[in-house]
Amino acid sequence: MKKLHKPLPSTRPEDIFEKCVSGYRDKQKVTALLQCKCMVGCDSELYDRVVPTRLEEYKQSSLPTNIDSKMISKVYTEKFAKENSPGRQYYNAIMEQAERNICPICGIRMVKTLDHYLPKSKFPTLSVTPSNLIPSCRDCNMDKRDDAAYDSKNTPVHLYFDDIPNEPWLQVTVGDNLEILYYIACPDTWDVGLRSRIEKHLDFYDLHELYSSHANGEVANSIHMWKKTIMQSSPEVLKLALIDECESSELNNMNSWKSALYRGLVANFDKVKKYIFGLCVTEQVDSNT
Ligand SMILES: [Zn+2]
Repeated sequence: MKKLHKPLPSTRPEDIFEKCVSGYRDKQKVTALLQCKCMVGCDSELYDRVVPTRLEEYKQSSLPTNIDSKMISKVYTEKFAKENSPGRQYYNAIMEQAERNICPICGIRMVKTLDHYLPKSKFPTLSVTPSNLIPSCRDCNMDKRDDAAYDSKNTPVHLYFDDIPNEPWLQVTVGDNLEILYYIACPDTWDVGLRSRIEKHLDFYDLHELYSSHANGEVANSIHMWKKTIMQSSPEVLKLALIDECESSELNNMNSWKSALYRGLVANFDKVKKYIFGLCVTEQVDSNT
């Protein structure tokens, strides 16, 4: 995951809401929805103040009796996310926050949509609030559960607001056959809420399995090269190459799946060496029979 700049900082969410609502032809609907403009403003302001560290303090406004919450959340799909809708310019501006079009939530797949940090089904007044909308791939958007608890320990990392120190917290275990599994090891000195949000982040978006599948593919693709390096040079040369790969990856993102993988391979280099030597012995036996 990668921290992002909060999008559209000088545009008021209530003005975005008004612009979107103005796209409806039904004037009665426009008048009804505009009753909620102030609520969108107040709720967005409170959200920005408390998310994610004091999320327990977030209380959304009560809607007027003639407004159904679905009517507000539909403003997002009909007049914000839809091509050529009045809010689409804001949608596009938020999508552009993602570096190289890579989903900042998983760090692997392509950005295709926006994910509501607090879901619009439960928090309709935040449906078009830019700081509640995170660029994401389709899988990350769909995997998040709408039935979760919403407090500072049970929500994922907020990529606009959370500051994660640039220290390693994602680690791997390396099996005897170089199978890779991920785990989280945040320093004990870190804030308990932040540590919990990091755990939830990986759980919510099913990232443990995703990272393992990428890491295991990377290992499978690299075995031949690692073997060649050991046979033609030495284990020490291979270790230096793994350290270089780790450093380069960590400079880009300290806690990407790749940084954690190479950190683990360097730390468990004896296992890498033993596995490669084992392969060489097996191949030798096969070639002699
Ligand atoms: Zn993703």
